[in-house]
Amino acid sequence: MAKSLLKKRTKIVATISDRNCEPQFLRRLHDAGMDIVRINSAHLDPAGVRKIVSNARSISDKIAILLDTKGPEIRTTTCDEPVRFLKGETVRVAGNTGEKTTHDVINVNYCDISKYVPEGAFILIDDGELEIKITGREGRTLTGTIENDGTLGSRKTVNIPQVRINLPSVSERDLDFIDLAVELDLEFIAHSFVRSKEDVLAVQRLLDKQRSPIKIIAKIENQQGVDNLEEIMDHSYGIMVARGDLAIEVPFERIPGIQRNIIARCIEKRKPVIVATQMLHSMIQSPRPTRAEVSDVANAVYSQTDALMLSGETAAGRYPVEAVRTMTRIASEVEQEKDLYIEMPAGSLSGPVSAYLAKVAVKTSIRIKAKTILSDTVNGTAIRNMAAFRGINPVIAHCYSHRTMRELALSYGVIPVFVEKKVSVDEFIHTAIRELLKKHNLKNSDIVVVLAGNFSRGTGFSFIEVGTIDYLRERSGVTEKDLMA
Ligand code: PEP
Repeated sequence: MAKSLLKKRTKIVATISDRNCEPQFLRRLHDAGMDIVRINSAHLDPAGVRKIVSNARSISDKIAILLDTKGPEIRTTTCDEPVRFLKGETVRVAGNTGEKTTHDVINVNYCDISKYVPEGAFILIDDGELEIKITGREGRTLTGTIENDGTLGSRKTVNIPQVRINLPSVSERDLDFIDLAVELDLEFIAHSFVRSKEDVLAVQRLLDKQRSPIKIIAKIENQQGVDNLEEIMDHSYGIMVARGDLAIEVPFERIPGIQRNIIARCIEKRKPVIVATQMLHSMIQSPRPTRAEVSDVANAVYSQTDALMLSGETAAGRYPVEAVRTMTRIASEVEQEKDLYIEMPAGSLSGPVSAYLAKVAVKTSIRIKAKTILSDTVNGTAIRNMAAFRGINPVIAHCYSHRTMRELALSYGVIPVFVEKKVSVDEFIHTAIRELLKKHNLKNSDIVVVLAGNFSRGTGFSFIEVGTIDYLRERSGVTEKDLMA
């Protein structure tokens, strides 16, 4: 098998907090394999977001930035001090949004909660740490029984599995953060608790109003999201399997199957997909992962996800760099497997000619043991169409805009680089071979697949050429002087 030019083909998203985002730290994460910075707006103020973005941009123009919204989410209100509950106690739950939570009444930030929660439903608070069975309803107040001992702090998450609540798609807080993402020209917005295409469209309309090219990643984290996956995919750029909330909203034993299915559907539809949450959770405290975590990361890579995500491990953990390195090690080991190529129709994202050439390029590169596929792209579409085959050779994608380069940071097996716009195949090959030789130590006999075309039109690939470095260097007239420049 050709030795990869990449450390790993699976991408890594790392969540960063404003309390630990110094450029040196981000550089170490990037060197260890981090491709995308995730900013969780639920835990930050705008100044914190600005700080992370500015530091990430200062260390590399290749790192994509993803802002995670809160989405239609319910939380408890604040309490003066943590409140202890015991199994069997009776408690009231109400939507007095301005009032504190006490031992008598757990208040939440949604005033109409009692309208939607029927008797017999379960309310799970703080990621399931405290469970309440609802036994009655009187006016705007629900009554319930505490199902397990637990302590409740301020502003904890509230999940009500299987109950549909009519929350708006975008909260007031999200509006401000979406504006900020537009102002800072970020690459991705990951929208939380997407239930149907309407939630995605609501964010898209806000972006369109400001003519923002930001791409939406829909977070699948409840049953409605799972049920409406197809229409959600049709309106989103990509999908996140947000296993944290998902494992509370649906029975946890269903998560592995849901994850596999979402990854498979995203690959077929050429939608970048991220597997998130608790992938290396124990590494928040420990320098080594558990065996189960190693298997979990490996299984996501065997399923051929585009990206893996770290949350607390990099945002607040004691071993953030080790966590990224651990993911890189596991991903690159699994990627050594020979049969990861996916046989499937050519796809149609970038038109039939472009799609067929891409499929041929991937298959050819595997059969003849090429070192890499050299290609170019205007908006990344043809590259994403090709990345879905999960070929074993890295695709070096020459991008004519920085935005396209950073968006492709999320796509499996793609090494995006920025270059000035080219106007002909010859010009493209000259630059691509020159840059390849400057950056990588290749032998004259190494084979490279060149896939390019439709210059200035942005309609995908129209040209394929396969040759040794020796031949391509001669063909493109790259001289020793070019390599020194
Ligand atoms: C999740 O629930 O898995 C997730 C990624 O979302 P958050 O971290 O915002 O809870």
